[in-house]
Amino acid sequence: MSFAEPRRLQVLPPYLFVEIDRQKQAALARGEDVIDLGVGDPDLPTPQPVLDALHAAADDAANHGYPLGRGRSDFLQAVAEWFAGRFGVRLDPDREVLCLIGSKEGLGHAPLAWVESGAGVLVPEPAYPVYQAAAVLAGAEPVRLPLRAERGFLPDLDRVPGDVARRARLLFLNYPNNPTAATADLAFLEEAVAWCRRHEVILAHDMAYSEIYFDGEAPPSVLQVPGAREVAVEFHSFSKTLSMAGWRIGFAVGNADLIAALARLKGNLDSGTVSAIQVAATAGLKHLPEIVPSLVSVYRRRRDVFVAGLRQAGFPAPWPRATFYVWCPVPAATDSTAFAARLLQQARVVATPGLGFGAAGEGFVRFSLTSPEERLLEAVRRLQALA
Ligand SMILES: *Cc1c(COP(=O)(O)O)cnc(C)c1O
Repeated sequence: MSFAEPRRLQVLPPYLFVEIDRQKQAALARGEDVIDLGVGDPDLPTPQPVLDALHAAADDAANHGYPLGRGRSDFLQAVAEWFAGRFGVRLDPDREVLCLIGSKEGLGHAPLAWVESGAGVLVPEPAYPVYQAAAVLAGAEPVRLPLRAERGFLPDLDRVPGDVARRARLLFLNYPNNPTAATADLAFLEEAVAWCRRHEVILAHDMAYSEIYFDGEAPPSVLQVPGAREVAVEFHSFSKTLSMAGWRIGFAVGNADLIAALARLKGNLDSGTVSAIQVAATAGLKHLPEIVPSLVSVYRRRRDVFVAGLRQAGFPAPWPRATFYVWCPVPAATDSTAFAARLLQQARVVATPGLGFGAAGEGFVRFSLTSPEERLLEAVRRLQALA
């Protein structure tokens, strides 16, 4: 018997890294020393205070039942306190905060909870692939919103055609941005909120990299914009800030009705985030002021050695001000797929072709700074030999 994939699965964006992944596996099988700067999975361990809290919570039978609800009240309260301290925004922990099984889970379910099938969903490009996949799975129609270097990788909302704006119900944004490492200031977020209010569009802001920034001001939350709560929900993650990618926890904050709808959907699909992991993340939020500066200084040193070396090798990558990505233009007369293949064959360095983040990502490759400094230095030596 053979069961065909349903259409909604067939039309999911294809996995565009297949070829580079195949070449990487082949090089590894030949025993080559490959430096993988392709994946965005933090290599640093989860900080000790978080692990200590997790161990104790795992031993406590009170945490062994279904978690249920929007999250533990101490977790929701800790999120509200952190948000007030970090962004100066007061949240009602009972109505405006929701625990997620990683922010990707919430982003992935959001269109299903919020928009009718057939509705327009504005998806920036290049982007983290889940926004488009989520729109497709909800039967909505993704509409590309290109991010261009000339505009600092911020979308030009004034250029969204009138008919598209009328049909749109949801806009995804992500700053600090994966893959471009761009940041958005409060003025841009104000524009985005005003645009969404004018067109009655929900604004979903993915802020997974809120704490990974190097220069200048701390990235603002969209909820700092007056009136944002009418239209916006923001998605936060512990994966990058606390190196907890494997534990699967994040949260959504913002408009109470949208939070309630997402909670209702999740109540029908999953039973919440493992209680012990909520306890661990709560401890993480309390310890954030000691943990984050040392984590950021590790990424900052990596950025400094890697970008300086890359530029010396003749690749004009801009200095990222946030995230742990380097979004590097590929040399003229080649494309991102061919360039990534050449880096792998001639330097045994894996980078992600920009095309994998959508057509507007063509012309760039993404390097991820999730390898130790010595490996990044070795990568730079190989790239310099190549140039
Ligand atoms: C890593 C990442 C996430 C985090 O997802 P989690 O599910 O919280 O691990 C979300 N958005 C972007 C853009 C990311 O790069």
